[in-house]
Amino acid sequence: MVDALAGQHPGADTELHHRNAFELLVATILSAQSTDAGVNRITPALFSRYPDARALANATTEELEPLIHATGFFRQKARALRGMAQALVATHAGHVPADMAALTALPGVGRKTANVVLGHALGIPGFPVDRHVLRVAARIGLSSGTDAERTEADLCALLPPARWVHASDLLILHGRRVCTPTPRCHACTIHDHCAYAARDAADNGPTHGPTRV
Ligand code: SF4
Repeated sequence: MVDALAGQHPGADTELHHRNAFELLVATILSAQSTDAGVNRITPALFSRYPDARALANATTEELEPLIHATGFFRQKARALRGMAQALVATHAGHVPADMAALTALPGVGRKTANVVLGHALGIPGFPVDRHVLRVAARIGLSSGTDAERTEADLCALLPPARWVHASDLLILHGRRVCTPTPRCHACTIHDHCAYAARDAADNGPTHGPTRV
């Protein structure tokens, strides 16, 4: 299924623009409740003004909030960014640690964000599970879909670590483009392997379109 999804979504990768682990960490925190394109529009100015953790740790709320306002929830995000940067300076000499426990100890950083940074910027296999991965994995029948950490463990168990990051990118893109909240099963390359599609066909017949879940 991963190979088939790779055929449907060639070049799948994180869509957040970044040049290093610090920038990806900042961009991922900003991407909560926002689109990647929206984050990419504001990060060039943000990274120009705050190129590293030390600079961001010293940012004032008045300086920071206008720069990130367009991504939404800007007050919480400004607090998270400053807290994260201050913790990096205080405990990691300003560097982003290549370690899940150390990353998730930072303010505003959960497992999904940590896995994005580990997998995409630090070369350590991780399986980011966002709402798209949660939904698509559950529909296919690979996990229960009720808990991100459980889904991460279920998906990691199915693939070798070297494929985790790319598989996550593929499931995210599939969830955005095809397996959307109202799924476009007729356009799906893994239709024949999907538990949701099989149930839908059994309930409604093979020509009946899928229903929203
Ligand atoms: S067949 Fe439908 S429900 Fe299954 S993965 Fe594809 S789009 Fe999603």
